[in-house]
Amino acid sequence: MRRRTVGIKRQLLDQNLVSGIGNIYADEALWRAGLHFDRPGDRLTLAQANDVLTHATTVMQDALGRGGTSFDALYVNVNGESGYFDRSLHAYGREGEPCDRCGTAMKRAAFMNRSSFFCPVCQKPPRPRRKRA
Ligand SMILES: [Zn+2]
Repeated sequence: MRRRTVGIKRQLLDQNLVSGIGNIYADEALWRAGLHFDRPGDRLTLAQANDVLTHATTVMQDALGRGGTSFDALYVNVNGESGYFDRSLHAYGREGEPCDRCGTAMKRAAFMNRSSFFCPVCQKPPRPRRKRA
């Protein structure tokens, strides 16, 4: 992860790199870790990289424990009912609502034909990369 210049969320969704993290759970893990979705992998500290992966694991464990989210077709039970983890989401689908950590209005950005939800204060966008001379 930290050898790649690719943004962190793109890496979390890359099935060749890590398997099974969906769009909703990537947004939650990044919110919990306080990282912007577009932060390049090579600009993460080792602690931040470990942190976001740990959060991705716990987010999915929490979600499974509550039967998943109703947006997520993967998580329906044998009766076709969806879970209610979406009530516990801090990032996904919360554009304009206050951040659960700092109260700032959450933002949404277009991302790979989908959306990324993030707090502009807790998850600061990366500074543009300096061009080499
Ligand atoms: Zn915040």
